Amino acid sequence: MSTVLHYPQSQLQPRDPVGLDYDLVIVGGGLVGLTLAAALRHSQLKVLVVEAQPTSVAAMKGQAYHINLLSSHIFAEIGVWPAMRPGVNPIREIHLSDGDYAGKVQFTLADLQSDVLGYVAEHRVLLAALQQFIQNCASVTYLCPAELVNTNYSADEVELTLKTQEQTQIVRTQLLVAADGARSPIRQSAGIVTAGWQYGQACVVAFIKPEKSHQDIAYERFQTEGPFAILPLPDNLCRIVWTAPKEEAVAIAQLDETAFLSRLKQRYGDQMGELEMVGQRFVFPVQLKHSLRYTQPRLALIGDAAHCCHPVGGQGINLGFRDAAALAEVVLSAHRQGEDLGAPQVLRRYEQWRKLENLTILGFTDLLNRLFSNSWVPLVWFRRLGLQALRHIPLARSIALRLMVGLLGRRPRLSEIEV
Ligand SMILES: Cc1cc2nc3c(=O)[nH]c(=O)nc-3n(C[C@H](O)[C@H](O)[C@H](O)COP(=O)(O)OP(=O)(O)OC[C@H]3O[C@@H](n4cnc5c(N)ncnc54)[C@H](O)[C@@H]3O)c2cc1C
Repeated sequence: MSTVLHYPQSQLQPRDPVGLDYDLVIVGGGLVGLTLAAALRHSQLKVLVVEAQPTSVAAMKGQAYHINLLSSHIFAEIGVWPAMRPGVNPIREIHLSDGDYAGKVQFTLADLQSDVLGYVAEHRVLLAALQQFIQNCASVTYLCPAELVNTNYSADEVELTLKTQEQTQIVRTQLLVAADGARSPIRQSAGIVTAGWQYGQACVVAFIKPEKSHQDIAYERFQTEGPFAILPLPDNLCRIVWTAPKEEAVAIAQLDETAFLSRLKQRYGDQMGELEMVGQRFVFPVQLKHSLRYTQPRLALIGDAAHCCHPVGGQGINLGFRDAAALAEVVLSAHRQGEDLGAPQVLRRYEQWRKLENLTILGFTDLLNRLFSNSWVPLVWFRRLGLQALRHIPLARSIALRLMVGLLGRRPRLSEIEV
């Protein structure tokens, strides 16, 4: 069934004095695309979000994310955090360890002088809050399900062909934002090249209910096969992110439930008592991908369309939220100055802001994975020295923690509120 949420089809007709239907069209109503739309709520800009998957299908994605402090600040400033907050779980401690090595690092609230170190939330919780929020934004039109099937760039506008189940229609805009995920058809058709590699690893993700309380502790255990993370969710659920060589990950995911739980307990330890599986397991390939350009005239890439990183440290989606907040800031400032939103000099400000910062995090996650997925003795000693530094040098702890929670780098104005 085709539904146009919030606006009837008739409002997709031209209604601007200069003849453009929208100031900005976001293709991809995933978490990152919707965050950008929500961030533009007070702008007076006419924004269209186009999403191919019906709302009910998108909400069923069984994913869960580490939401770092910066992302939670962005949501708070936008005004969507109160709707998300009941469905997210705080992280109050982070434990890092290297295999069976006894020298564990424990980050606590005192290290950040904060009452929380981050949050964990399911995809459906975040998505539902954002969808609800933008339906109450008068300047945002949400077209779902609808697919972008063709783009035609010219000097003054982009012409987009959109297909719903009922009809094909053409809309024109100053700026097209690609929030259309890792494969990004828009990026590909624009001829923007990416660099990167597959890791030969894959991630098994699952929800687990432990017998004992998770105590709001997040664990990252580095194993030579790949990092293993446990993230605390509401209702004492935990999200497992288990990275292993690809064939092994597929085999782990295919084990029957008893064998899977027994294998998990070997890795998980018994600090949380008996474990119960909740829902299905998924496997997703691990890759590093970075667009060589984030923009070209009348086009900007955000989220996975621009970059994908190793899941170690749970940074991926947070980079996307930061892209969305940064692009919103650039676009709003350009709009106030009366500039053309799709002009190269405007989009360059976004690219210069985000590209190097994202590349730094991509490089950092890659380095962490390589450093710890390795049993070469000098490297083992080197990384254990690093863990000792984190245990005993407050400045090292503070820098590492601030990097993890997103407080290093240029912060978007949208993130300046404290939550
Ligand atoms: C199985 C799996 C598990 C994962 N687990 C984690 C995790 O635990 N933690 C973590 O941080 N990350 C995880 N990730 C990665 C995470 O899901 C992505 O980083 C995140 O979803 C990126 O958000 P996005 O909005 O940029 O893109 P997406 O979520 O991919 O959204 C893109 C949207 O664009 C829409 N779209 C695409 N083309 C068109 C078109 N032509 N017209 C209209 N709409 C279009 C799609 O339908 C989609 O809804 C996981 C990924 C997978 C596949």
